[in-house]
Amino acid sequence: MMELGAAGAILEYFQKLPVENPSFYFFVFQFDIDDLMTNIFWADARMIEDYDHFGDVITFDTTYRTNDHERQLALFLGVNHHNQTTVFGAALILDSIRFLEHFQMVVDDRRYSETMEDFRTTNSTPEVIVKCEILKAVVTEYTPTIFCIFQDQFESSIFQVLTLKRDEGCIRVYEVGTSKGAWHTITYDSLEGNFTCSCCMFEYLGVQCAHVMKVHVHKEILCMHPKYILKRWTRDAKMGDIVDSTGNIVDVDPKALQTRRYAILMSVYGKVANIASEHDKVFKDCYSREIRMTQEVMHEIKSLGVKMPNPAPQSGASENVNEVHGQTSSTQQ
Ligand SMILES: [Zn+2]
Repeated sequence: MMELGAAGAILEYFQKLPVENPSFYFFVFQFDIDDLMTNIFWADARMIEDYDHFGDVITFDTTYRTNDHERQLALFLGVNHHNQTTVFGAALILDSIRFLEHFQMVVDDRRYSETMEDFRTTNSTPEVIVKCEILKAVVTEYTPTIFCIFQDQFESSIFQVLTLKRDEGCIRVYEVGTSKGAWHTITYDSLEGNFTCSCCMFEYLGVQCAHVMKVHVHKEILCMHPKYILKRWTRDAKMGDIVDSTGNIVDVDPKALQTRRYAILMSVYGKVANIASEHDKVFKDCYSREIRMTQEVMHEIKSLGVKMPNPAPQSGASENVNEVHGQTSSTQQ
């Protein structure tokens, strides 16, 4: 159990958090029969949000200990859409305040890594090494890290050999493998569009394996069924409201919310840019619509009485329009 002085200091630490950190949301203290604090569990709004998006897999890490090895900090951990470790919550067992600050540093460090990866995701698209429809269809869906795993599986499938073992109409059973490696059994239900493989990679990782991809290529199926593209691995993994266990929508940290909105919009516009830039007419139509939409957004911001983030976008924008239209016109001539 905890000394009264340490317990008071911890209470003070948590009482300060709502002011210093508006995202702080939930904590529980556990007391023993003598009313002495023994354990604390806490999670802030961002942790609850991350749990909502990525809570399909949880690990309980009790390896964190104080220097005297007597006090324990247990972390509830998961994996985000970039395959990075993320924190869902923490339990402090017979601990001191010194360790809370260390914990906050660990959380801040992991969130910084995620923000950097979000930024990289928003501003880049991985190279599609094998130019095929099945990869092109997911390159802007998956985060870069997961796309690379997917692409590695596809490359591996090129070297696999496929044989049909059983044909029962809409159910076909294949064996896929290499002469030197293991062979796996794939069952394909063409009626439901279901694939199962004995390697169970999709069940473990949430990304389809090389063996299933081999069947896709063999059957000339050009894209993976949406049910095999798990939202938790996509660029849109964090879209949608977060609801807590009582059914209430969680208010997240305003800065985190703004970052999330920005990432969502960039993801949407990134997809549009990717498609529209391939065709001159589609690009010009899209660009005209974008100019109109920018004006409408400016009008809406003005009507809401919100201060404009950029007071003079018009002149720069119109110069760009002339420049881009000039280039496209000369291309057509
Ligand atoms: Zn497999």
